[in-house]
Amino acid sequence: MSKTEQTYIMVKPDGVQRNLVGKIIQRFEDRGFKIVALKMVTATTEHLEKHYADLKGRGFFSGLIKYMASGPVVAIVFEGYDAVATGRSMLGATNPLQSAPGTIRGDFCLNVGRNVCHGSDSVENAKKEIALWFPEGLNQYKLQQEEWIFE
Ligand code: GDP
Ligand code: MG
Repeated sequence: MSKTEQTYIMVKPDGVQRNLVGKIIQRFEDRGFKIVALKMVTATTEHLEKHYADLKGRGFFSGLIKYMASGPVVAIVFEGYDAVATGRSMLGATNPLQSAPGTIRGDFCLNVGRNVCHGSDSVENAKKEIALWFPEGLNQYKLQQEEWIFE
C-alpha cells in the first residue's frame, strides 16, 4: 500500500451549483488525503467524451456529456493510502438510491443522472484521468501532519 497513490475526484456541475465543493473536499481532507492538484474547469464536449470514452454507446451517454458540459466542474487529485478504492467508497454507489448514508452520494443526492461527483474506479484509470485533466502536472510537497497520518 502506497501513501502516494493518487485518484481523480471531480465535483460535477450539479455539485458546484449546489455549493457542495467545500463539503466534498472537506471529507477527503478530514480523512487524511492530500490535495496535489485542484482547479475549476468548464470542459468541452470533446474533453468529456475522452473522459467517459468507456461509456460511449450507452443510452445515457449524450445526456451525460450535456450534463457534464452544462457548467464548470472542480477537478481534484487526492493522494494517500489506497486513494482510488477509498475514494470510491467515500463516494458511494453510482446510483445514489443505492448509496449508503455517510457516503457523499448517499448524503447529498438522489438521481443517478445528477450524482454530484466523480471518482476514478481503478489505479490505471486514475492515471489516465489525471493525465487528461492535469497535463500541466501535479504539485509535490510534504504536509507537516503526514507523520500523524502515516506511521
Ligand atoms: P461512476 O464511476 O460511479 O461515476 O459510474 P459510471 O462510470 O458507470 O458512469 C459514469 C456516470 O454516468 C455516472 O456517475 C452517472 O452520472 C452517469 N450514469 C451512469 N449510469 C447511468 C444511468 O443509468 N442513467 C443516467 N442518466 N446516468 C448514468
Ligand atoms: Mg466511472
